Amino acid sequence: MSKRDFYEVLGVAKNASDEDIKKAYRKLAMKYHPDRNQGDAARDAEEKFKEVKEAYEMLSDSSKRAAYDQYGHAGVDPNRGMGGAEGFGGFAEAFGDIFGDMFSQGGRRGAGGRQVYRGNDLSYAMEITLEEAANGKDAQIRIPSWDSCDTCHGSGAKPGTSPKTCTTCNGMGSVQMRQGFFSVQQTCPHCRGTGKIIPEPCTSCGGQGKVKRQKTLEVKIPAGIDDGMRIRSSGNGEPGTNGGPAGDLYIEIRVKSHDIFERDGDDLHCNVPVSFITAALGGEIEVPTLSGKAAIDIPEGTQAGKQFRLRGKGIKGVRSSYPGDLYCHIVVETPVKLTEYQRKLLRELEDSLKKGGSKHSPSGESWTDRLKSFFS
Ligand SMILES: [Zn+2]
Ligand SMILES: [Zn+2]
Repeated sequence: MSKRDFYEVLGVAKNASDEDIKKAYRKLAMKYHPDRNQGDAARDAEEKFKEVKEAYEMLSDSSKRAAYDQYGHAGVDPNRGMGGAEGFGGFAEAFGDIFGDMFSQGGRRGAGGRQVYRGNDLSYAMEITLEEAANGKDAQIRIPSWDSCDTCHGSGAKPGTSPKTCTTCNGMGSVQMRQGFFSVQQTCPHCRGTGKIIPEPCTSCGGQGKVKRQKTLEVKIPAGIDDGMRIRSSGNGEPGTNGGPAGDLYIEIRVKSHDIFERDGDDLHCNVPVSFITAALGGEIEVPTLSGKAAIDIPEGTQAGKQFRLRGKGIKGVRSSYPGDLYCHIVVETPVKLTEYQRKLLRELEDSLKKGGSKHSPSGESWTDRLKSFFS
């Protein structure tokens, strides 16, 4: 098992400077980064990384490099604590922070080497009625849009002047920052990644190169949408920087509370007041549904709180195959503002009911029993 030459592994010349070695190492480490190598390629990349790491550890240490230059692999015994015995975990330890930082910013290199950023997402709150949520709706909304500034033609500089290359990053939009042992690429704090400084900003756009306008967007609200759901309109967010893609627009749905119905998933609930006469005698009552009136028969002796289900009269959710149900909750109404005559009738009714005893009072008997045991 012959070992490859360390210079060969890093792809640098024998007389390479420390800086060149570091650069080569960083480039190769990125290449063999686990995020970029999936599946079968990952194992190969792991081997390659170990090899690269070992080569770098030797060549970045001047005394080890000198020994290696003079004696080759024999000059640096890999069993003496250096070398490939170490697991792949070393990768995460050595690179976790740096790669996390570099890859999570969303920036990437664009044409001309400047950092390219995706635009911010926008969110738009839209209030709709329950009926609109149930049936869907074509809506038009006014959203911000950005046009290139007419005055400066998008340069952001006052007419007659021009943007200058940022001297902090030499127009690259990013700078190398030393972070302990490694050097890390960061967005240039001076030009915020644009690579340009505008000495005299255009007064029309404040140096932005773009002006905010309004545009009308057609939005299709799907039937069955519920409160708190959001619809994504891709590319209708803020524009990107340096030619980066625009962000997305999110339409957040708020369903207004309804006078009659309350929604619970695909089901609807409503309270239906019924006179105590109808509750006692039974009969047909009219109930509302989202698609119009319906009639239900309630049986004789219907108690308060009883619910009747109307199958399929709820809402068909966005991802549902069937509509939900409508639950009508019976609220027995106590009559008010009675005339003397009506009071008299009720008292007569009460006397008559008392004579019948507990048979007229379905919960009465068990209630009396429970009270007895409670007080005894
Ligand atoms: Zn302008
Ligand atoms: Zn800069």
